[in-house]
Amino acid sequence: AIQETDFIWRNGELIDWHEAQTHVLSHALHYGTSVFEGIRCYDTPSGPVIFRLTDHIRRLFDSARVYHMPIPYTQEQIEAACRMAVRANHLKNAYIRPIAYFGYGGIGVLPGKDTSIDVCIAAFPWGAYLGEDALSKGVNCCISSWNRAAPNTIPTGAKAGGNYLSSVLISHEAHSRGFDEGIGLDVNGLVSEGAGENIFVVSDGIIRTPPTSASILSGLTRDSVIKLAEAEGYDVREQTLSRESLYVADEIFFTGTAAEITPVRSVDGHIVRCGGRGPVAERMQERFFGLFTGETPDHHGWLQPVQDN
Ligand code: PMP
Repeated sequence: AIQETDFIWRNGELIDWHEAQTHVLSHALHYGTSVFEGIRCYDTPSGPVIFRLTDHIRRLFDSARVYHMPIPYTQEQIEAACRMAVRANHLKNAYIRPIAYFGYGGIGVLPGKDTSIDVCIAAFPWGAYLGEDALSKGVNCCISSWNRAAPNTIPTGAKAGGNYLSSVLISHEAHSRGFDEGIGLDVNGLVSEGAGENIFVVSDGIIRTPPTSASILSGLTRDSVIKLAEAEGYDVREQTLSRESLYVADEIFFTGTAAEITPVRSVDGHIVRCGGRGPVAERMQERFFGLFTGETPDHHGWLQPVQDN
């Protein structure tokens, strides 16, 4: 269950957690017309920081733009509101969930002038997405019988509520078959991503991850890991990957805000050659989590203080 906090930011003000309700005829509830973000706040020796806040909020506004949803705030206002949501709830480590959606005021598919655009930001504690053990031992996965949305159907590059119907089907199928997580293939049968994570495959020391053309969400953790791995001297390639390349990989890992860097132990029963968490995943975990202990220097300005400057 979700760990409740005191306040949620809604349309410019902090309201009680339990008062953050919406009408059952809200457009987004019927048609999936919400755009959202998942952002983590980490406690560090110099106070809590929000990881890549500006980049997440830019992606939120980009997602809204795709759906012709003019968010009635500036990106700076939403960033400040995220910081406020963390501070108001006295959180140090937190998951932040901003959402903008077409609300009440019309039931036709096309959101009209009278349809509200509401913005809410919740912040609450959330541990390792696939379990604490997963970070060290890895997760067992299967390829889903559900493909990811094809290009020119529903854009996977926009992080919209409706996209997650695909993720729900993929993860439900995986769990019902006894796996921890499912991996979707794209319309061409090539590897796309996990239900809520991007995927990396390591073979012969080369790190590969599917390109944005493979119906992925362009993850910010993915981008961070690419940059951290390149700084470590790894050869990182964005290229298409066959299903069977997963079966013969030395190691595989997922990346995502919620999943952080989670090793994949097996795919369709084929245990990765390294047997679980491999050396590359472990090194990338060290570099990534090192950002928050101060061990990894923040060369990119990714750590943004919760306190207003
Ligand atoms: N793909 C999907 C479908 C996701 O839901 C997520 C999590 N937001 C990701 C990839 C990873 O993206 P990020 O690293 O920006 O959290």
